[in-house]
Amino acid sequence: MTAAHETDLLIVGAGPAGVATAVMADSLGMRSTLIEADQVGGKLHHIGALDNMPGNWQTGPALAKALATDVARITESTRCRLLRGRAVRIDGHDHHVEVVLDDEQVLTAAAAVVATGVTALTPVHTDWVTVPENFWAPPLWRASPEDLHGATYVIGADRPLGTWLRAHPHVERTLNVLCPPEDDYKAAEVAMDDRVQMLPVFRVAVTKSRHDQGWEVQAESRGGERIGYTAGTVLNNLGSRPSALEGLVQGPDGYCPPDQQHPQILIAGDLRSARFQRIITAQGSGAQAALARYYGTALTTA
Ligand SMILES: Cc1cc2nc3c(=O)[nH]c(=O)nc-3n(C[C@H](O)[C@H](O)[C@H](O)COP(=O)(O)OP(=O)(O)OC[C@H]3O[C@@H](n4cnc5c(N)ncnc54)[C@H](O)[C@@H]3O)c2cc1C
Repeated sequence: MTAAHETDLLIVGAGPAGVATAVMADSLGMRSTLIEADQVGGKLHHIGALDNMPGNWQTGPALAKALATDVARITESTRCRLLRGRAVRIDGHDHHVEVVLDDEQVLTAAAAVVATGVTALTPVHTDWVTVPENFWAPPLWRASPEDLHGATYVIGADRPLGTWLRAHPHVERTLNVLCPPEDDYKAAEVAMDDRVQMLPVFRVAVTKSRHDQGWEVQAESRGGERIGYTAGTVLNNLGSRPSALEGLVQGPDGYCPPDQQHPQILIAGDLRSARFQRIITAQGSGAQAALARYYGTALTTA
């Protein structure tokens, strides 16, 4: 590690991947700055029920709390610093990396790990949903049962649907899911739950209802019919897109392949690709990024 910089490693994002990077870096004696725009734990705060995490973790917030304790512990050892801020740009140079924050602060280090994950897609990013200007539907993953009023329509059948149903096993409410063909394989995962009514559609247009209460949903079914629904609540479940920083190399799908970045810039967690988006793989890739930097090896996993 060079001593020319304030720190050895800049880590952008303190979700499971970024925290695993920081913990592993600390255990190797590396200095790091962990930059987080929101809360330590990232998406974990929105996972009401977990069933694939070794260690008997049953909810995301419980694991997020444990990660926050890890961060508190390693920041006590002056090697790791937690910095609240939003990174907007990253640049790799011959012997250092620069990360620019939205307040124009510039941080430098010998290397950086970017673990900013993904962010929610909105109707603006799709070609099968039309919505009025300034339309905003809350993401399904953040909706609590008390937020749902009247008939509930969910745009898209992305995986948070299964998580929501597992997290609220006793809520007896029908979720009418407007499902485009590309989500059919995900819809199959919740087909057994009789609280889900799948509405296979090609296109959907949402407008405000005449009395300004709720929404009108016009759908083009797979059979080519036009069907109108009246919704009290419309929720966004369209999926996600990568939260890439300016300066990273992005593939055609917007993700940031680790093996195509500047040699001093490593990518961990969900930002790597649409595949393998799980907590444990995020943690593994974060730990691996710290080890790769420590041993000076290339990171080729995607
Ligand atoms: C509803 C839902 C249910 C899920 N259920 C499961 C499940 O049951 N099991 C499972 O294994 N996985 C599940 N996942 C997936 C899992 O949450 C992710 O794979 C995992 O959180 C990815 O970790 P990450 O660190 O790569 O990204 P994230 O958890 O997204 O963390 C990224 C962090 O980076 C921060 N950040 C973003 N941009 C910036 C920036 N520019 N500057 C500074 N900080 C920034 C964010 O605030 C965030 O804290 C679920 C996801 C969702 C949304």
